[in-house]
Amino acid sequence: MSPLPAPPQRPPSGTLPQRVLLVENSRAFTSMLGHEIRTRVELPVTVASSLAEAGRLLERFDDWFLVLTGLVLADGDRDAVLDFFATRNLPTVVVSGVYDEDLRQRALARQVIDYVLKNAPGAVDYLVWLVRRLERNRRISALVVDDSPSARAYAGGLLSMYGYRVVEADDGASGLLAVEKDATIRLAVVDQEMPGMEGVEFTRRLRAIRARDRVAVVGLSGNADPTLIPRFLKNGANDFLRKPYSREEFFCRISQNVDQLELIGTLQDLATRDFLTGLPNRRHFLENSERLLPKWLSSHQPVAAAMLDIDHFKHINDTWGHEAGDLALCAVAASVSGHARPQDLVARFGGEEFCLLVPGLDAANADDYFESLRMRIGQLRVPVGDTALSLTVSIGVCRSGDPSHDSLHQLISEADRRLYLAKAGGRDRVVSHG
Ligand code: GH3
Ligand code: MG
Ligand code: MG
Ligand code: MG
Repeated sequence: MSPLPAPPQRPPSGTLPQRVLLVENSRAFTSMLGHEIRTRVELPVTVASSLAEAGRLLERFDDWFLVLTGLVLADGDRDAVLDFFATRNLPTVVVSGVYDEDLRQRALARQVIDYVLKNAPGAVDYLVWLVRRLERNRRISALVVDDSPSARAYAGGLLSMYGYRVVEADDGASGLLAVEKDATIRLAVVDQEMPGMEGVEFTRRLRAIRARDRVAVVGLSGNADPTLIPRFLKNGANDFLRKPYSREEFFCRISQNVDQLELIGTLQDLATRDFLTGLPNRRHFLENSERLLPKWLSSHQPVAAAMLDIDHFKHINDTWGHEAGDLALCAVAASVSGHARPQDLVARFGGEEFCLLVPGLDAANADDYFESLRMRIGQLRVPVGDTALSLTVSIGVCRSGDPSHDSLHQLISEADRRLYLAKAGGRDRVVSHG
């Protein structure tokens, strides 16, 4: 299967630590794994072959995100290696050449995130997946709803070891409040047996405010009642874990559900966004416009529709090449979305044409809005090699209330007609009157 294209807009990495430390005495393995992490997860990787070297590197940089370590090094092995990273409080994954159940248990007891056999088939792919998962978890909040402080601390402790930001609630009502307040909560782990509101009921109510593609719910219970799992699932849970659960089972289930959420997000992005620029596509724009336009009009907000077209774009492609043309399209798209307010709808309509639907501006403010957008794009300098290209756009605008232009179709066709007046009038201008 060919890999899915990356979603057009990556989440901002912010100032989260990025550096991965790979500690291993086998050069062949470190260079292969290092290469895979650098290219597939796009994180900086630093390699050390001994604890002494690892210690020096840890001092030199201060943006450590994760350690992947072998257990047999020239200057220490097994427990010495585990202690070395545990005392430094670094998130650690053990990558071992030998399977030793006793050692594995000792490692997992010491807050090691995972114990991976490096010679197992698929080990490198698994490690790349694991690093990417842990990296992304840091931008996801996970809610634990459980009345038992110790159960909450156990699940919360595991989730924070896996990198999630953890929010705890001791009953269903405060759990629901937390979800309402915090849009970064994408995962809820919910106990069934709670006073006040049971887990199934919590899940049912959560679904009224967050769909399955927004928040994954994993039910928990120690109860052997065979009707419980179907009740959780029928009321909107994505998965279920029976208490007591092992931390590895917990991690696998949680990760699988979060992976699925992200996959849905990627597929939704592919269906609703233009691949080149990351702007909403025409279909998505029209769907949202059909939904919002009647609301805006019935609350007596004026609405302006605009069609924007890059001037002489064919000439830009012919002069600077198609790739430079693509960069110019992305730069214009970024200006359009940077100019738009949160309530505005924008789209790449096709080719070098963009469309906007802008509510709540009177005629003078709408003129200012589009005039300043035109000037903003005129000031762009798109780097191409060691020089930069500039471009202009023409914009046609139609406001609701302009005689009988109140349906979406009428607004857009009239904006389009005025766009052609702008072209005919010499380009690089806004035309907002018939
Ligand atoms: P006008 O000022 O009248 O709008 O002239 P124009 O050259 O911009 O208009 P025309 O419709 O003749 O040409 C549009 C060009 O846009 C032709 C097409 O190859 C180019 N184009 C459409 N989509 C893309 C794209 O995704 N990337 C690049 N690089 N070019 C594209
Ligand atoms: Mg309970
Ligand atoms: Mg054009
Ligand atoms: Mg065009």
